[in-house]
Amino acid sequence: MVSGVQRAYRFRLYPSRAQEEAMLLVLELCRWLYNFFLGMIRCCVKVPKKTWLQEMLPALCRKHPKLNMVHSKTRQYVLYQLYSNLKALSKLKKNGRKVGSLRFKGRGWYKTFMYNQSGFKLKCGSKQKRQMGILHLSKIGDIPMRLHRNFTGDVKQVIVKHSGSGKWYATLIVENDQPINTTPAFRGKSVGIDVGIINYARDSGGKATEHPHNIDKSSKRLRREQRRLARKQYDKKTKRSSKNREKQRVKVSRVYERIVNQRNDFLHKLSRYYVNRYDYIFVEKLNIQGLMRGIHNARNMADAAWGRFFNMLEYKAESACSLVVKVPAKNTSQECSGCGKMVPKTLAVRQHKCPYCGLDITRDGNSSIVILHRGMRIVGLEESESTPVETEPLHAIGGQASSVKQELPQGASVEAPSVRVG
Ligand SMILES: [Zn+2]
Repeated sequence: MVSGVQRAYRFRLYPSRAQEEAMLLVLELCRWLYNFFLGMIRCCVKVPKKTWLQEMLPALCRKHPKLNMVHSKTRQYVLYQLYSNLKALSKLKKNGRKVGSLRFKGRGWYKTFMYNQSGFKLKCGSKQKRQMGILHLSKIGDIPMRLHRNFTGDVKQVIVKHSGSGKWYATLIVENDQPINTTPAFRGKSVGIDVGIINYARDSGGKATEHPHNIDKSSKRLRREQRRLARKQYDKKTKRSSKNREKQRVKVSRVYERIVNQRNDFLHKLSRYYVNRYDYIFVEKLNIQGLMRGIHNARNMADAAWGRFFNMLEYKAESACSLVVKVPAKNTSQECSGCGKMVPKTLAVRQHKCPYCGLDITRDGNSSIVILHRGMRIVGLEESESTPVETEPLHAIGGQASSVKQELPQGASVEAPSVRVG
């Protein structure tokens, strides 16, 4: 049974001048609180228990009445955030990475605050303005919010974010009690997807997806605006950004946010394409961290965000009754998809020509078919003799998504997505 699935939905907020000032003040007070607690922790020999600091909050609010302008749950969340940062840092240290100590947050470096369980209320839009809803936040007021999409379920948390370009967003964490799968549609189709440098993705059905060009264009623009920012001065007296520098910083942020949006849009569409067409989607198990450290195309890798793509495939598959299975990635480009023999080639060789069986296809195309074969072996499906693209009928499997998962043999890796962004 699928129950208690949490999804995050992000909506744009349109606060009034006064509301914006109130929210900026909350951020500033949270930043102050964060730095205060971090200072306390730094004074201690050993990191104190969180509850010890939490008990100080009421007294602190009496001493600094301004803090009462921040909702109590939001204040507690600051502490929670601080401790999760500390935890993440010590985890890195344990893994042998060189890390310093946690830093104090400077002006403008505190960008989110949170309401947990209480302190907020959601009102839907009127008939005339159905797209616009109202998000009521305690201590701030009724903020217009664009409901660009529907969702069902209970809102458990609200995270308010101030973006670098000055826009405000609310991320609603929504819990849905109903199982998402209602009508399992088994179409008997499976696909292997190979991701790569030349093509963003290539599948065993022969579909090749190029890297999105609009991102390249925006990246060029980002570099140009960043160069311009580097030439802008700081104010000599206040040591803060001059007005022109601040204007340019917003420009850079806007271009950057545009790239993020373009990339997400591309990935959402591509993952939706596969989830709508296939029951079994096989991808390779990527070692993204390892690859990033190793080779010079780390930038490329980061851009491509394949890990994010796989994540999207997984959570979309969950509600569409398909299954994403990760297969071992070793030698997918060397193995021949026709006869299974090894055909060694360097990264520069883009064509797969098998001397054993005479197969002659593109390198990526070969890899995607190898991935498909490996995946079918993992989930225990018979490989068909004919073209592997449309292997129907695959023998009937339960008919329920949950039973599909149970029938997987041991050792098959079906990882649940850790982050779901709707
Ligand atoms: Zn061969």
